[in-house]
Amino acid sequence: MDRYQAALAKLRQNPRTWLVTGVAGFIGSHLLERLLALGQAVVGLDNFSTGHPKNLDEAMERGAIDARFRLIYGDTRELSICQEACNGVNVVLHHAAIASVPGSIADPLACNASNVDGFANLLVAARDAKVERFIYASSSAVYGDDSASPKREERIGVPLSPYAATKLVNEIYAGVFQRVYGLQTIGLRYFNAFGRRQNLQGAYAAVIPRWVSCLAANKPCTIMGDGETTRDFFHVDDVVQANVLAATAEDDSAAGEVYNVAGGQRTSLNELYAIIRAQVIQKLQLNPPDPVYVDFRPGDIRHSVADVSKVRRDLGYLPSCTLAEGIAEAIDWYLANDTPTRAQRKVDLGAGYPPALSIVFPRDG
Ligand code: NAD
Repeated sequence: MDRYQAALAKLRQNPRTWLVTGVAGFIGSHLLERLLALGQAVVGLDNFSTGHPKNLDEAMERGAIDARFRLIYGDTRELSICQEACNGVNVVLHHAAIASVPGSIADPLACNASNVDGFANLLVAARDAKVERFIYASSSAVYGDDSASPKREERIGVPLSPYAATKLVNEIYAGVFQRVYGLQTIGLRYFNAFGRRQNLQGAYAAVIPRWVSCLAANKPCTIMGDGETTRDFFHVDDVVQANVLAATAEDDSAAGEVYNVAGGQRTSLNELYAIIRAQVIQKLQLNPPDPVYVDFRPGDIRHSVADVSKVRRDLGYLPSCTLAEGIAEAIDWYLANDTPTRAQRKVDLGAGYPPALSIVFPRDG
């Protein structure tokens, strides 16, 4: 049995209480789904700024609706909300953030408030609640302008966006809380995660649902630059895997570390397009038009691929599928969901949404 399977078996036997922040988002809803299916108790925190109630509905259909999930509709920018969320929790999986590079450039203060102030609030609340381990989402954005390839944890460049700066500050703060207060923290530098329920605002991974949608409509896809830009796309199930492994690692030496989490494979946009096109053609029997090549996106890094040997060695992480297999798993969801429309829709929590859940609203409403 590999280390992931062993960790899952152990959790089934000894359920814990988890806080998932950003629970209504793309990654947070997958964490919720898997943890509920493993019989864990989950507290979820989200302000629904980019997260969506439908993500929670889907996560619970696939997991289990019961009293083991408590949703706090609130904001990490409020310390009291973070304190309430951390109460009685064993492990924090912190994923609430403004996750958009363009969004951070448009409004750096909003990005700083959620990604830095909110992060510090949660660290303080986790420390005071004596949480056993604090796992948090960092990003490959911290590699910034460094041209080394593949990316290794010990060498980073200069951040190229407010978003990247906030993720770097998160890593610095987490290290400080580990050293000064003894809070065990582990940072996960995600590369380009994709899968069901993906938010179209995610930088490059969102190209996958966008192209599926375009091809299904028999329209030409747009490729930026010459198509030889590369990224490290990996399936969201492996984000879940990395979180479970980080949370359950028995060797405390992983605490205080940051890890690349990715597929460890470089894929060009042209290769990605070919994979998606073949799968859409096979499913829908279409003959889509050729793609249109436009200018490079300003400030884009040419190549981004992770060295995943550290996370493999320390935590036992193994990517579970190839890019083509991952897309095959997600494509039906992309086709069944009009993702652009859904992502643009304004979140309306409606009267008493969602009735089956125990919701705690912020005190000031
Ligand atoms: P997402 O936008 O789908 O999820 C973020 C969630 O956080 C949303 O549900 C949003 O409503 C919530 N949120 C935002 N600000 C909040 C606040 N102040 N208080 C409470 N809730 C708040 O994004 P995602 O792709 O699921 O990303 C999750 C995390 O992983 C983020 O920290 C992101 O920076 C990081 N990350 C993601 C990727 C990727 O490929 N998706 C890559 C690198 C890093």
